[in-house]
Amino acid sequence: MVNQRKAIETRIEELVKREGIVLCGYARLENVQLPPIARGLSYGISLGYRLSDVIINAIVDRPTKEYLHHYRQINSLLNQVSLIVTSVIQEEGYNALPIPASQIVDWKEIRGDVSHKLIAAKAGLCWLGRSSLAVTPDYGARVRYVSILTDLPLPTAQSLDFNCGDCRRCVEICPCGAIGMSSDKFDRNACLEQLRNFAKSENLGTHYICGFCVKVCQGKKTKL
Ligand code: SF4
Ligand code: SF4
Repeated sequence: MVNQRKAIETRIEELVKREGIVLCGYARLENVQLPPIARGLSYGISLGYRLSDVIINAIVDRPTKEYLHHYRQINSLLNQVSLIVTSVIQEEGYNALPIPASQIVDWKEIRGDVSHKLIAAKAGLCWLGRSSLAVTPDYGARVRYVSILTDLPLPTAQSLDFNCGDCRRCVEICPCGAIGMSSDKFDRNACLEQLRNFAKSENLGTHYICGFCVKVCQGKKTKL
């Protein structure tokens, strides 16, 4: 049984790496808000794709068209990979539920069914920064995530022992003052208002993106 699980884990890790996924981790889903359909699925697989530094570095005073296309391409890739992982897990006799990378179920609050960031943090891939983004030591906030919920028991990680320290870059760059000195001071409504304004002024449709706080939150492997 343990060997079978280890073999599935190895298969998942090799498979996602081939698809360009740079971060893969497993979390216990205690204290994570889940939809009723996820009953009995107490593990989460978090997968992260690194954003292009060229595209993120080109964001100056508004979200660019290149960032919009990149965002959509990455969501599409993450969704594909999550489906493949789901298939592998099911073939091994376990249940799996892929949660789309940018699924919005509450349009007023612009929220999905599940917080990918929280699962990534519980999987030990990142911490939740002042900007409320998932921040990684290597790539800063330049990663997008997808999650697969499952009843396959996985070896879960410890949370990362990192925090924002004395960095204030996102606090200084945010155009609407949404970011406070700690993550619990994040003003979600102010941020949403700014994202809606950008969606309108830059013709982004229903894509609520900005990119400023993503750009300035850099990790060890970020190329400027
Ligand atoms: S996404 Fe933009 S508006 Fe929202 S917190 Fe980040 S910098 Fe501020
Ligand atoms: S830019 Fe600095 S303060 Fe803001 S989330 Fe990233 S590490 Fe934390």
